[in-house]
Amino acid sequence: MLRSAELKSRIETNGLASVTDAARRVLENLRSEIASGNLDSGRLGLALNGVDVAIRRELDAAARYSLRRVINATGVILHTNLGRAPLSEAALEHIRETAGSYSNLEFDLATGERGKRDIHVDRLFRQLMEKELGEALRPALDVSTIVVNNNAAAVLLALNTLAEDGEAIVSRGELVEIGGSFRIPDVMAKSGATLREVGTTNRTRISDYESAINEKTRLILRVHRSNFEISGFTEQPSLAELSELARRRGLVLMDDLGSGALFDLRSVGVGGEPNVFDSLRSSVDVVAYSGDKLLGGPQAGMLTGRADLIAHMRANSLFRALRVDKLILAALEATLMAYVKSDHDSLPLLRMMRLSKADIGRRAEALAVKINAADMHAELIDGESLIGGGAAPSSMLPTKLVAIRSKSATADQLMKQLRESDPPIIARIGDGQVLLDLRTVSVDDEASILKALSAGS
Ligand SMILES: *Cc1c(COP(=O)(O)O)cnc(C)c1O
Repeated sequence: MLRSAELKSRIETNGLASVTDAARRVLENLRSEIASGNLDSGRLGLALNGVDVAIRRELDAAARYSLRRVINATGVILHTNLGRAPLSEAALEHIRETAGSYSNLEFDLATGERGKRDIHVDRLFRQLMEKELGEALRPALDVSTIVVNNNAAAVLLALNTLAEDGEAIVSRGELVEIGGSFRIPDVMAKSGATLREVGTTNRTRISDYESAINEKTRLILRVHRSNFEISGFTEQPSLAELSELARRRGLVLMDDLGSGALFDLRSVGVGGEPNVFDSLRSSVDVVAYSGDKLLGGPQAGMLTGRADLIAHMRANSLFRALRVDKLILAALEATLMAYVKSDHDSLPLLRMMRLSKADIGRRAEALAVKINAADMHAELIDGESLIGGGAAPSSMLPTKLVAIRSKSATADQLMKQLRESDPPIIARIGDGQVLLDLRTVSVDDEASILKALSAGS
């Protein structure tokens, strides 16, 4: 096989060793398929004829990156499995410029002395808070922000700094799990703070918090119900009530907000989802939130709040272990700059959230016409895009979906064909049809979708 004309050129480009390896892997697969009785003699003939194609495909796959760009046609804007928020052009450019060279990451250009890495973004967070909250911040609050690896790390660092060896009070209705590995009671245990549960699943009153306070109590933790809702016979105190209690009893009030929007979500038709400003306006001492959810930036966890508390967290040795690198800070600085300049449409997340059903419908219509011309059946149906990423669980954005059926393939086969195209395309299935939501697809990627669909027909 290695002497065959088909593989000769690949040996010249890829080297004899890797072509030999690839050939062995392909033959090994074939042997095990034969042994398991999966190949009858007709299909075996086909498989044998395709061996050199399979070897070349194997070589291409081995030379390709494992982490790849994909086209997200699910309509889930913050898809945790697909990398949450895509970065803006400005963020990518800022990473390129500062990380491809040396930077003043921890160097004060004014004095020529060592500087702090947080100051690059802290100043922008300050500007945003002042612009949004103005007098509400003054004179009592000096607010600052530090950045760690993700929101899970932010909650861990804050609890460890502010409540280690003491108690933190949490409502039983807020002992949440966000994705398999972030559970409030577990993070609490790791932080060295003792969890003091109060109230019940559906109802917790301010008096429940008050009567749990003792000499060991350090902190009251409010956790946002990011990915679920409790409805019916329910009750929970407002942040303002909690903050009054914390003040009166000399405790810290912390809000694990999760998604951390820096804009008013009602502007995109999503109600009831608090943003970072709402928390600070309610006199929360420390807010923890993610960088790659509704903020629309890189993976990061922010702690914004009273400057004296934030200074303690920065001095904690855990901070060194959890801090972020220059790539993240560059992406975050550029993302925040968009908010400072009110240039919201430069952030892909906000652009996608603002697309109207009519805009999406027009693009969907044009794509459906082309898909039908390629001998498949496509029609438009009403549907909903999801914000996702554990944010705003019940709010959906109305959209138009392209629903596709093929004459020769099942929906599962079609999904596989889309996943195996380059770039891979991820869609969803509903009612036995493949559903595409163009809200999360760029106009430039529509041609790739059409090409991938046509390849199988
Ligand atoms: C998402 C979320 C977290 C975890 O944030 P990551 O940035 O994914 O680590 C923690 N708490 C709440 C309330 C969240 O919504």
